Amino acid sequence: MLRKDHFHKGLWSQGGALCFTRHESEQPHLKIVEGVHECAGCGLFQHFPPLKPGHVLTCARCGETMARRRKTDEIGGPLIFCLASLALYIVLLVSPLLTINVYGRESTVSLYRGPMELARQGFGEISMLVLLASVLMPGIVLGLMAMILYGASRREMPLWVRPLMAWYERLRPWSMVEVFVIGVLVAYTKLVDLALVTLQPGVFLLGGLMVLMAAMDSTFDAEMIWHHRSIPYRRKLGVYQIKNRVIPPEKHMLSCHACGMSFVARHAVENERDMGDCPRCGQILRRRKRNGLRAALSFLLAAFIFYIPANLLPVMAFVKMGHGHPSTIISGVIQLWQSDLYFLALLVLFASITVPVLKIILLGLMMICQYRGRASFKVLRRLTRLYKVVVFIGRWSMIDVFMISILAAVVRFGLMASVEAEAGVVFFAMVVVLTIFAADLYDPRCMWDAAGYNQESFDRTSQIRESDKPALQDMEPEKA
Ligand SMILES: [Zn+2]
Ligand SMILES: [Zn+2]
Repeated sequence: MLRKDHFHKGLWSQGGALCFTRHESEQPHLKIVEGVHECAGCGLFQHFPPLKPGHVLTCARCGETMARRRKTDEIGGPLIFCLASLALYIVLLVSPLLTINVYGRESTVSLYRGPMELARQGFGEISMLVLLASVLMPGIVLGLMAMILYGASRREMPLWVRPLMAWYERLRPWSMVEVFVIGVLVAYTKLVDLALVTLQPGVFLLGGLMVLMAAMDSTFDAEMIWHHRSIPYRRKLGVYQIKNRVIPPEKHMLSCHACGMSFVARHAVENERDMGDCPRCGQILRRRKRNGLRAALSFLLAAFIFYIPANLLPVMAFVKMGHGHPSTIISGVIQLWQSDLYFLALLVLFASITVPVLKIILLGLMMICQYRGRASFKVLRRLTRLYKVVVFIGRWSMIDVFMISILAAVVRFGLMASVEAEAGVVFFAMVVVLTIFAADLYDPRCMWDAAGYNQESFDRTSQIRESDKPALQDMEPEKA
């Protein structure tokens, strides 16, 4: 299905999700357009044919995947993986991950030992971040999914399922089990030369959870949940009949960022104007993300500034017999390389050093492209693809932060040996979070808008579509 996780998952960017009573009286005149979808990459509205299981629909303009119909049952498939993940998650909470043995002294680390140790060392904010991404969010996301599937399995889908769907899309990227698994592996390989390290059942549970949650996501089809049961619309908007007719000009069309429902307005719609609430999911309707460029640019600049101390300052120190050996991110990579762990060294190099730079450069290019407003079709197509990559790779930079939290938690032998987090890790985590927000707030459709696409309206052009005009004139919402 169309992944909307890069649309408005920023918690503040779209207002609350539980907004079922807001704006009831001010809904501008809109009609629902069924059978039409907007491409999230380029903003082109296209007819949406009924898809058979296994079919994939791609955008005719930018080539982005717009929808993918799963072969598995829309409720049964994800439900099995969700319940299995929940079971693993609960066991994982009480299972140890690693045990280290130094001269007979043993230390064991569990899932929340890392955040606790970071908090004790005075890095409360990093401790919160690690706790959220590795412990709380996976649980919240699994709980949300279980509730969504339960609601969707009933004859009449309850109202409360709809905001949960929006929250699931927003919070899912912050559950970073897969990144945490790599963090554990890097920490393990760093320790294995120094002491006797034993992998505990928790690591295997974590691996299992990673696979099951990925399977749950790949079988979950939000589009089907929105469609497969009768969903009574909260506000009775009329339906614009699109069958055998051309799609109205782009400037009159908008779609819900959360559930993908399409609408048409009688007059051309301004890009960032608040158009009331979506009758299906209750989210605010806007053609484009509000202040996308400015917000993304400021986050990106802040990330760029923090990137410098993040690389210059040590991120952690290995304290041995009272003497600290601080290490920066790059020296950590060199250390892995010197221990002949080439693959891990390259992985950490890529995730921690290359990915943030890549994100800053690519998002910067997209903004320049939008600002100049005359990019070629080829460039726009490529940048739209790259935007998806930027959104996907962002979280992987967290590997180093997770690794430090595990090392700090497990190497605690007082004066003999300990690992302490250093100031660099704060800047580094800021870079990761800020670039995730920047990518999230940016709207790639604006690049296409700036280059002259998606701008057609009845006011300016087209005599061919004169025949469709009467239909748009009759746009008064039907009184419920
Ligand atoms: Zn497209
Ligand atoms: Zn909606």
